[in-house]
Amino acid sequence: MPLQTLGLNARRHNSPMNAVSEPFQIHHTGLAWHNQFHRLGSDFYTALAPQALPAPYWVGRSLAVADLLGLPHEQLQSDALLQALAGNQPISGTQPLASVYSGHQFGQWAGQLGDGRACLLGEANGLEVQLKGSGLTPYSRMGDGRAVLRSSIREFLCSEAMHGLGIATTRALCVVGSDEEVARESLETAAVVTRVAPSFIRFGHFEHFAARNQLAQLKTLADYVIARYYPDCQTAVTLNANPYANLLQQVTGRTAIMVAHWQAVGFCHGVMNTDNMSILGLTIDYGPFQFLDAYDPGHICNHTDRGGRYAFARQPDIAHWNLYALAQALLPLIEDQALALQALDSFKPVFERVWLQLMRAKLGLPDAVRDEDQALTADLLKLLAQDRVDYAIFWRRLSHAVANQHFAPVRDLFLDRPAFDAWQMRYAERLVTADHGQAAALMLKINPKYVLRNYLGEMAIEAVKAKDFSQVANLLMLLEHPFDEHPAFASQAGFPPDWASQIEISCSS
Ligand code: AMP
Ligand code: MG
Repeated sequence: MPLQTLGLNARRHNSPMNAVSEPFQIHHTGLAWHNQFHRLGSDFYTALAPQALPAPYWVGRSLAVADLLGLPHEQLQSDALLQALAGNQPISGTQPLASVYSGHQFGQWAGQLGDGRACLLGEANGLEVQLKGSGLTPYSRMGDGRAVLRSSIREFLCSEAMHGLGIATTRALCVVGSDEEVARESLETAAVVTRVAPSFIRFGHFEHFAARNQLAQLKTLADYVIARYYPDCQTAVTLNANPYANLLQQVTGRTAIMVAHWQAVGFCHGVMNTDNMSILGLTIDYGPFQFLDAYDPGHICNHTDRGGRYAFARQPDIAHWNLYALAQALLPLIEDQALALQALDSFKPVFERVWLQLMRAKLGLPDAVRDEDQALTADLLKLLAQDRVDYAIFWRRLSHAVANQHFAPVRDLFLDRPAFDAWQMRYAERLVTADHGQAAALMLKINPKYVLRNYLGEMAIEAVKAKDFSQVANLLMLLEHPFDEHPAFASQAGFPPDWASQIEISCSS
């Protein structure tokens, strides 16, 4: 009887390689594994190994993430690691598991979800290492436990792009692909992303135990998160010295900062369900995300999101809503509703402060904040929206225009030129005392030349389907350093082609 029929808990590494005559091999990465999440105990997860994926091949690799883990670069060339990260060989020191969580999806309580296609290998160098797309788990529900190549490449590139932009995010070590077919709207092939983060704990982990009234487990989880990631909550004197209220306030602050960065850079997440919200304020679970092409506050990047719940401009309010769901889950520990509400109150002021700070930097306003800055920014965004101006190109051109005091290339982006001229007069006045060289230098470090537009991802994905991996590598290189000029790649910083607006990305991936 094949081992898998013994049930998921009993799943062992049974790759075709091992099943034939090869001795059962364990891969040694040389990393020291300390699997702290595993120590929480079996209420929090199901221990199980990843499912074997036949004939894997490398699709993309990040040396920067290898460095974070302390993984020697040669390993990212080795067949042994390739097999291990495809789920075909166990890794010495890991204790693989699928964690359980619940959550609110599109505003509705969805009940138990969990790692339906992910497997946490363990923790090395203070970072959790997780395989996404690694096969069935007890939480797979109707799914097949797999991730498709297309979405895996998008997640890999976007994780590293967000990091390159200075935005808090989970990271991605690599993508391995296979010709194994998986059925979505059409037949596609499977892939596994190796993700890396200090923790993959989500709001939904807390909601899970609160909804079941498992208060001991809820407390264990909160105490673990505080001790590991928010130790100053233990001794904070704010919020009646309540550690759980302080935890909520700190998560609120980090989430507000993360979303402020999304809004400033023009990033649309697409599925801000509470199970896709990191307790560390990291951007997590890249699905139908999009960097805006034309500026449109109402833009909906998720084809499945018919009502536009997660439209670009709604993201800050949705983040705040999700924090209410977290507060509700933490309430049995906080034991004081007024205190929980007080902790949540920090969302708006933190978001507004950080957002304005980022927008002022994008405009190159170097000195102290003035009252007029808010209106200058808001009026500009109105013009960008009215004329559907390309967001990234606008900011990059504005940065160069400030440097050389030649605004025609920016003006050319607008249909309503008199309106732009009027705004530009106000802007010039605001910058009159500034050192233009200094302002432009600041702007060129916050207004990226390269963003992961959907069509760029799409072209790299098509190349990979033809087994050409060079475009993924080139795009990764650009996105790791998105503020540098890279003149040889300037064509990838231009306007999107007409077909870009036809790309439809949905939740099913
Ligand atoms: P997502 O919308 O990708 O955040 O997924 C929501 C939930 O569905 C999570 O519990 C996922 O683990 C699960 N899920 C998504 N896709 C699959 C799949 N192909 N197989 C099993 N579970 C999945
Ligand atoms: Mg998810």
